[in-house]
Amino acid sequence: MEECIFCKIARGEMASDMLYSDDDVIAFRDINPQAPVHFLVLPREHIVSALDLTPDDAVLLSRIFEVINIVAEKEDIAESGMRVLTNVGRAAEQIVLHLHFHVLGGRRLHWPPG
Ligand code: 5GP
Ligand code: ZN
Repeated sequence: MEECIFCKIARGEMASDMLYSDDDVIAFRDINPQAPVHFLVLPREHIVSALDLTPDDAVLLSRIFEVINIVAEKEDIAESGMRVLTNVGRAAEQIVLHLHFHVLGGRRLHWPPG
């Protein structure tokens, strides 16, 4: 997946404000933040979207949520509240076709979202 920007970030070929990194999962700040805290958590493995997850990804998914919690604590949004979401496909405006979870916090997050 040479052209995928999140694969490039995962390989260190593109700069990012990295918040967490291990063999399977990375987290970095969104380049266009929609809240005072806005970071992305994703697998290093190129999975297109949540639609492509299978039961074999159970451990990976639980690792992703562990990292979400670790970084949320570090960024001090865990207690006040945060939003975790993943866009899937065109109607949801998924721009980067590499599974990622947005984590937003640090302000009141309105519902329903746009
Ligand atoms: P999507 O719409 O696919 O769910 O969200 C993609 C997100 O990736 C957007 O919020 C966008 O700001 C972010 N993004 C796109 N390109 C880059 C980049 O090169 N670096 C970082 N850090 N974030 C990016
Ligand atoms: Zn990728």
